[in-house]
Amino acid sequence: MEADYVIVGAGSAGCVLANRLTEDPNVRVVLIEAGGRDWNPLIHIPVGFMKLLDHKTLTWGFKAEADPGTNGRAIPYPRGRVLGGSSSINGLIYIRGQPEDFDHWAQLGNRGWGWDDVLPFFRSAERWTGDVADIHGTTGILTTSPMREQPEACRAIIEAAQELGIEYRPDVNNLPHGTGDSIGWCQQTRGGRRRASAAATYLRPAKKRSNLRIITHALVHHVAFKGKRATSVVYSRDGRVEWVDAAREVIISAGAVGSPHILQLSGVGDPEVLQKAGIAVQHALSGVGRNFQDHYIARMSCVVRDLETLNERGRGLSFANELRRYVTQGTGMLTYSASLCAASVKVLPESATPDVQCVFAPASYKPGLIRRLDDRPGITGGPWQMRPLSRGYVLVRTPDPHDQPAINPRYLAEDTDQRAMIGGLRFLRRLFAAPALARHIVEESMPGPSVQSDDELLNYARQNGSTVYHASCSCMMGRHTMSVVDDELRVHGLDALRVIDASVMPAVTSTNTNAPTIMIAEKGAAMIKRAARQQMAA
Ligand SMILES: Cc1cc2nc3c(=O)[nH]c(=O)nc-3n(C[C@H](O)[C@H](O)[C@H](O)COP(=O)(O)OP(=O)(O)OC[C@H]3O[C@@H](n4cnc5c(N)ncnc54)[C@H](O)[C@@H]3O)c2cc1C
Repeated sequence: MEADYVIVGAGSAGCVLANRLTEDPNVRVVLIEAGGRDWNPLIHIPVGFMKLLDHKTLTWGFKAEADPGTNGRAIPYPRGRVLGGSSSINGLIYIRGQPEDFDHWAQLGNRGWGWDDVLPFFRSAERWTGDVADIHGTTGILTTSPMREQPEACRAIIEAAQELGIEYRPDVNNLPHGTGDSIGWCQQTRGGRRRASAAATYLRPAKKRSNLRIITHALVHHVAFKGKRATSVVYSRDGRVEWVDAAREVIISAGAVGSPHILQLSGVGDPEVLQKAGIAVQHALSGVGRNFQDHYIARMSCVVRDLETLNERGRGLSFANELRRYVTQGTGMLTYSASLCAASVKVLPESATPDVQCVFAPASYKPGLIRRLDDRPGITGGPWQMRPLSRGYVLVRTPDPHDQPAINPRYLAEDTDQRAMIGGLRFLRRLFAAPALARHIVEESMPGPSVQSDDELLNYARQNGSTVYHASCSCMMGRHTMSVVDDELRVHGLDALRVIDASVMPAVTSTNTNAPTIMIAEKGAAMIKRAARQQMAA
């Protein structure tokens, strides 16, 4: 089989690329995905993500390495394995990040990646269903929506933040340069009652095109090369090994775990790592799988009174009523995202802009990956450091593509990250003590009043924290020896090979990573089209 472009991975980025590249009917695209179709209804009911985090077929079932940052725990590390990839199992929050995040990428020497450069791609992706505003796009493909319901517990959280002098911003995606501490309602990748995954929005219309072939249940083993040129993608399906030739380019969009893993399985990486795994070196590139970044969150919960929370709405007759509302009106708690409102605050004296993101839910949970609601009414906040300094890795361990690579974000390895976590938890205590919330708080249930000193708070975070699922930066864009792709997302030193997904971020964006990944893919598609036009003209 041959195509002009072979895309590996039908996740957030891969679906965007499959759509944009097949807009030209003369271009043949093959999209290869390890997972299957997105038929499970829990994917499409927004709140269903809570039940999917450890799903046997819809996720990869990864675990991060046991690490001192998590008190030696090997925490679950969910990634989507289905059409739509992680956008099919994520928490639906649509927040782009601070403009300064992208200006920083550009300052590192990545031309065309500053805020003013990337904003048009955010806008062209978006089909915003809220009030018209210049910052949003309304004619794009990715449906995004404001939080139409604003539960009273979250309203109280926003009021308490304002009592602390934090600015309420009506649009969390409209934070001009230099915005200080602020709070607002999360926006969602949701259209009406349904999740707007990359598969539901970008892939579904493209499927009808005869120039797109999607191969599901196909595990990519490696990219094959002739000299330095990527020529085909080798995968297995139903026990058979097959391949697709790429007449123009191979594009790896397998996510921040999958993309460095596939490069390394193809012999592209740090020679020492490859040799240790028993893989012949095709092209030495030390940065593959390095610079890995993620956000780390530790939650604080309080039992509340005289405030309605999801803990009551999520059980018995009330839940039956929620189901009815969802089915008949497409509203209610089943349409909620992982968090409903979010604050950006500065807790480190040395930071130039807010450095901790706190996300809030009108609910509290029992311990464990799958979130089961507490018995008593509760609210929860969780801080993460926006720009962690800790750097981890995704490293191949064996030549067998079925074997999970070593994944280690090395959370809280840096002193600054530890101080930010402690500062974030202390900020939450101040917030819960502000008058608008204090009158409702019965007690702090997690971590509880016995946890007070910096050491105790840090230990609590290490023992109870988890990933925010923002795996990124493991094939970083840049111009130095540890970078993997250039600012056109081409792999350094190789031809006809790009990486386009969350792994190319030079530094993780300060908030959630789905919106920036979609933007990266929109921009990557435009680059590929431009390169093809230039080649034709030459
Ligand atoms: C549980 C969870 C909750 C999240 N919540 C949010 C949120 O609320 N808001 C937000 O902005 N972000 C959220 N994120 C993060 C966001 O979804 C990701 O940053 C984004 O989806 C990454 O896109 P990607 O294209 O880089 O990778 P992915 O979407 O993960 O896509 C990679 C695709 O490649 C496929 N693949 C990998 N290896 C192979 C192989 N060897 N062969 C074939 N196919 C392969 C995978 O199966 C997958 O489909 C969440 C993520 C998770 C996992």
